[in-house]
Amino acid sequence: MPSGVEFARPHTHFKCNHLTKEISVSTYPSLHLLIGGEQLSGGERKTEDVIDPATGETLGSVVHATSDDLDLALSNAAEGFAIWRATPPEQRSAVLTKAAALMRERIGVIAETLTREQGKTLAEAKGETMYGAMLFEFYAGECKRIYGRTMVRPAGKRAEVRYEPVGPVAAFAPWNFPVINIVRKVGGPVAAGCSVIVKPSEETPASALATVQCLLDAGLPANVAQVVFGVPDDVSRHLLGSPVIRKLSFTGSTSVGKHLAKLAAEDLKRTTMELGGHGPVLVFEDADIDKALDVMAPNAFRNAGQVCVSPTRFIIEEPVFEKFRDGFIERIKDLKVGNGLEDGVDMGPMANSRGPDQIERMVKDAVTQGATLHTGGERIGNQGYFYAPTVLSEIPEDAEIMNEEPFGPVALLNRYAGETEMIAEANRLPYGLAAYAWSNDPVRQERIASQIEAGMVAVNSGGVSAVDMPFGGVKWSGHGHEDGHEGVMACLVAKSVHVG
Ligand code: NAD
Repeated sequence: MPSGVEFARPHTHFKCNHLTKEISVSTYPSLHLLIGGEQLSGGERKTEDVIDPATGETLGSVVHATSDDLDLALSNAAEGFAIWRATPPEQRSAVLTKAAALMRERIGVIAETLTREQGKTLAEAKGETMYGAMLFEFYAGECKRIYGRTMVRPAGKRAEVRYEPVGPVAAFAPWNFPVINIVRKVGGPVAAGCSVIVKPSEETPASALATVQCLLDAGLPANVAQVVFGVPDDVSRHLLGSPVIRKLSFTGSTSVGKHLAKLAAEDLKRTTMELGGHGPVLVFEDADIDKALDVMAPNAFRNAGQVCVSPTRFIIEEPVFEKFRDGFIERIKDLKVGNGLEDGVDMGPMANSRGPDQIERMVKDAVTQGATLHTGGERIGNQGYFYAPTVLSEIPEDAEIMNEEPFGPVALLNRYAGETEMIAEANRLPYGLAAYAWSNDPVRQERIASQIEAGMVAVNSGGVSAVDMPFGGVKWSGHGHEDGHEGVMACLVAKSVHVG
């Protein structure tokens, strides 16, 4: 056990270690494809186990789509697009509003399913489901605010700009936020009048199916939103190889994003790419250090650090380095790690076996190169994918962890001489997703907001995401947006119409 970190041993049969009573859990749902509203499974279709990351037990079997299934989904998507693009915005809005209400009604079951297949705490899973409902509601309003423009022309002539849905979308969502990512992937296209085929992660299929089912139960025509699973590269090549698909939307690693962008380019399909990050956090001498610590220390371990906007590289001004480092360690020493279903747990397991393997390798490499390990730095328990909350400091710039997204429960604390060096460090990497800064100097706040190369900047705050604000990155973190007005605009194309 790592010093100072309380670990609630994960139990195989969902026992609460401190109450020694069964945690009541609903049955893990049966899994299927969702094509044209039909729940397809069985036959010659291959399956793949879904693993509970807290126990290592098999929860169920995800069904792989055959080539025929994918073709059926494509023809449905073409028909669904013809119907949905002609559906008035008020009706599209009503469906999204109802879907949000259903998500709120079903929050208990959806959140529990999410925790079981992904690992995050139940409180985080409920928060994620609630954010999903809020985003559907926001899109419900936004789809009634798709405006065009009319130009001034001589009498008898007309020139106008119209925005039309781009067409059927192929969307690929990862496992770290299996509800929000599905709402983002499906909500924007549905609001804009597109159809969408989404391939969620095979590791978190039930949360995705439950989210799309809310839309179908709210009255969405069954061929407008469909769900398929399979070998990711086979599914993406099949869907992106079809002329039916007019847009690719992907969230995941930069390397897979580059690969998919090339496939999309072969047919000049539009793209929205939400890729990796390596969140810098600039902490200046003039900041409210206690507040920065209270907000950012727990934030670094949300969802066991498997967050694309996770605060990762703490870039601390020299005079406050020791104070920040010691306060950081103090605040995380009592974090309770365990099965996310248990009461009082602050951090669950990592979502899959790749997580602890990657973090272990990166932490070892950093320590070998001279970094100081303050806490954590090891796996915990002998079942599931638990890794202790880890704090490193004085990490050499060449260490892998200073250059590649760790995507795990580790915070990197380094000292810098002043603002110029701190901004240079923040911008050093090719990533540009989220950045954070803590300073009470309003002029500096403005300088930071304008000079940091990132799609999202939070000043004196730990939050970079809101349903009415665009979410997306620059550089290797991708392009295009989800959420906000921009999330709907990303699924529309402009048409210029000249009359007379
Ligand atoms: P990965 O890139 O292999 O997979 C990420 C997601 O993309 C998964 O859901 C996977 O099913 C899907 N995917 C992979 N190959 C695909 C393909 N050819 N076509 C379509 N979809 C494909 O990464 P991983 O092993 O799951 O995680 C590795 C790293 O990816 C993480 O350490 C992290 O850096 C990054 N990641 C980022 C996000 C994010 O929110 N930006 C999410 C998940 C993973």
